[in-house]
Amino acid sequence: MKIAVIGAGIGGLAAAIRLAVKGHDVTVFEKNQAAGGKLSELKLGEFRFDTGPSLFTLPELVAELFELCGQKMETLLPYQRIENNCKYFFADGKVFNFYHDKEKLKKEIAENTTENADAIFERLTQSETVYNASAPIFLFSSFHKLSNFRTEPYKKMIFKVGKLNFYQTMHAANQSDFKDKNMVQLFDRYATYNGSNPYRAPATLNMIAHLENNIGAFFPKKGMYAIVESIYQLALNQGVRFSFNTLVNEIIIQNGKAIALKFIKKTEEETKTFDLIISDSDTKYLANNMLKHPLKKRLQKAEPSSSALIFYWGINRDFPALELHNILFTSDYKAEFDKLFKERTLTNDPTVYIFVSSKMVKTDAPTGSENWFVMINAPANNGQDWESLVCEARKNIIAKINSTFKINIEKHIVCEQVASPLTIEKSTLSQDGALYGSSSNSIFSAFLRHPNWLKSIKNMYFVGGSVHPGGGIPLCLASAKIIDQEIPTADE
Ligand SMILES: Cc1cc2nc3c(=O)[nH]c(=O)nc-3n(C[C@H](O)[C@H](O)[C@H](O)COP(=O)(O)OP(=O)(O)OC[C@H]3O[C@@H](n4cnc5c(N)ncnc54)[C@H](O)[C@@H]3O)c2cc1C
Repeated sequence: MKIAVIGAGIGGLAAAIRLAVKGHDVTVFEKNQAAGGKLSELKLGEFRFDTGPSLFTLPELVAELFELCGQKMETLLPYQRIENNCKYFFADGKVFNFYHDKEKLKKEIAENTTENADAIFERLTQSETVYNASAPIFLFSSFHKLSNFRTEPYKKMIFKVGKLNFYQTMHAANQSDFKDKNMVQLFDRYATYNGSNPYRAPATLNMIAHLENNIGAFFPKKGMYAIVESIYQLALNQGVRFSFNTLVNEIIIQNGKAIALKFIKKTEEETKTFDLIISDSDTKYLANNMLKHPLKKRLQKAEPSSSALIFYWGINRDFPALELHNILFTSDYKAEFDKLFKERTLTNDPTVYIFVSSKMVKTDAPTGSENWFVMINAPANNGQDWESLVCEARKNIIAKINSTFKINIEKHIVCEQVASPLTIEKSTLSQDGALYGSSSNSIFSAFLRHPNWLKSIKNMYFVGGSVHPGGGIPLCLASAKIIDQEIPTADE
């Protein structure tokens, strides 16, 4: 089959590789000049930054792509487990390192929290149980195929449904399980891994902690963008063609079948027919800009996930106090989420995430310097005055860093670039700059996410962060795996 993939994000690349391996003739259309989408890189002088994702979990889903192509991930994309998953700086001055090693973690809990270590280990075990029961249903298969409801994992999950804890919020579960308010805040934060609000998201999502803390947090030896570089190369080796600087502006549907794409390359408009079309585009953007067919109304109503404000700073000194991933927590998490999801604005005391890839990839910054990716959660764009919000946020972030580390960080910033919901939308065509499509702020969110195919448009499939099973690198890879199961090999 002649297959078109719209978008060279991680989901689009994975789908292209899987279908090329099946013997199909695959072309990827990407409006940017390179692959990656949200997972891209930025160079400022001698500093290199990963622009989006920084946390790499479930690397086996990337390894599967290498294996399908007869290659070894360890050779082409070397990566390692990180020992300290994240270093947390709390508003009360306490510091906590979430070590992967369970003995080190136990000691850290004893020394730097008032929590009972058993409560934390019990929670990690519980997250594992929920993940193991629900992942085969919620992450690695489609809800939109009846036969999936007759499979063994589904039958097993039915018996464990009570354990999935749909009816409690993440925060309520954390508050009842932990006595140290810092640990409640730490575990609440996992809601932000898919752009949600822990005061509304179902406690089922507490399973995210299992991925990072039991299985582990990983990091490619050459930084996050190496994931894209290596799988882009894998796609080329499988004969996938890429048409960069090409904006798809219409998917032509005839008699309920997707049959062709209209696209603009440079300034020329062209139309090409295909047997199958895969979209890795944000589904709201797709519905508003590429499809005359009305996509389900609920898609337009779905609450967007959060977005982000990111400051990419070249820093002219090193900070031994920082690890690869660092969190400087707000003193009032509830107020921060109310601002983000109710008022759709920013708090004056935001939780600040600092990711320093040069801690692991020495060439990402000149000797004696560091590359700081400084991010706060932000609401998706709905017309806020971003110029003044960015200006305020910058002051508040600097004040927080200065008071935490007793420094004047501003005098160490030697170069800067800023990303906001507006720039994220522009560079990745994600509606309103939402990082993860729609939020998971209700117990129904998982079921309401856009499916991987529609009955009403034949020959078309959907992958990427705005469709089932959701946002984040592993889930985008899972979406490609789900559609792969539906598409036959070339000789079938
Ligand atoms: C700041 C930030 C931090 C994040 N942190 C993490 C993290 O730590 N860990 C994690 O796992 N995930 C994280 N994520 C989420 C993760 O990056 C995304 O879920 C994932 O990369 C999305 O991949 P995708 O396949 O949906 O494609 P996208 O990355 O959304 O890319 C879609 C591509 O399609 C192209 N496109 C769309 N429409 C068209 C069209 N009509 N014509 C041509 N091209 C088109 C776009 O230009 C874009 O390149 C983060 C995201 C951001 C932005």
